[in-house]
Amino acid sequence: MMVLGQVTRLAVQPHLPPTETPVLPIPGLSDFGQVIGERKAAFLDGAMGTQLAEAGVDMSGYANLKDADVVLAIHKRYADCGVDFLLTNTLTMNRISIQSHSQKVDVRAVNLAGAQLARRAANDHQYVLGDMGSIGKLLKPYGPLGESEAHAAFAEQASILVEGQVDGLIIETMFDLREAVCAVSAARDVTDLPIIASIAFHTAADGGRTLMGNTARDCALALTKAGASAVGANCGTVDPLGMAAVVEIMRSATPLPVIAQPNAGKGTHVEGRLSYDMSPADFAAGAAACVRAGASLVGGCCGTSPAHILAMIELLG
Ligand SMILES: [Zn+2]
Repeated sequence: MMVLGQVTRLAVQPHLPPTETPVLPIPGLSDFGQVIGERKAAFLDGAMGTQLAEAGVDMSGYANLKDADVVLAIHKRYADCGVDFLLTNTLTMNRISIQSHSQKVDVRAVNLAGAQLARRAANDHQYVLGDMGSIGKLLKPYGPLGESEAHAAFAEQASILVEGQVDGLIIETMFDLREAVCAVSAARDVTDLPIIASIAFHTAADGGRTLMGNTARDCALALTKAGASAVGANCGTVDPLGMAAVVEIMRSATPLPVIAQPNAGKGTHVEGRLSYDMSPADFAAGAAACVRAGASLVGGCCGTSPAHILAMIELLG
């Protein structure tokens, strides 16, 4: 589980840096094909959590309120790489996930701050995607989470991010297809903006499987049906080449653009924490394998840095 800050620190009032003139996106994002154009792929940014941890601050969305300058600086470093999309630092900032860790953070404030920080870092050709992830509890009957409760939490977060003027949404690191479908349909209920749905795979073997046993093909089919605008894979316990195998399966199951955001390698346990040590060059080669397998949206997940994203764009751009 993610390590969260202490309650006392979370109660601190937000102190965002002074607002600059907002940069308006040009033109509005209607679909991902418009951004990909004639290129092999369009580019998303890399990890936020591991970058926050390196900066010594809370590695969650709470940093949007407590350490806004650090979040903004990380967004800017990714913007400088020349990505097409910046992701808001709001992955687990849905009401239920926040409440299970602390009552002190306002869902609206933390998501609006996340949208604002990414928007402020974005150059005028860069889009902002509101980032949403798992609630962190299993749906009934495997866990305590009711489907309508999950739907409400996802719809709430999506509508706040839309209010914060994101250009689209990305629902990622989902390890349960049912929860992912619930999130996509909840987001679709509140917005017509493009929505990416991205699954964390546990293995590339056996048709690609999530921890819950969903296959890559079933994920692509169900997320397409649920109203996603792009589907694919991120994070999980597959390396970039394993992710390419998953991409190939999803590519053949849906007409939608496929996204791949691998981690910087498989991750090894170092002093009780997962550590990712794949070099930028090897990561870029892995991202290229994902593109050859059919991904047209590529970025990085855990352990990736601006150096990894830059190497990827230099190789594929
Ligand atoms: Zn990850």
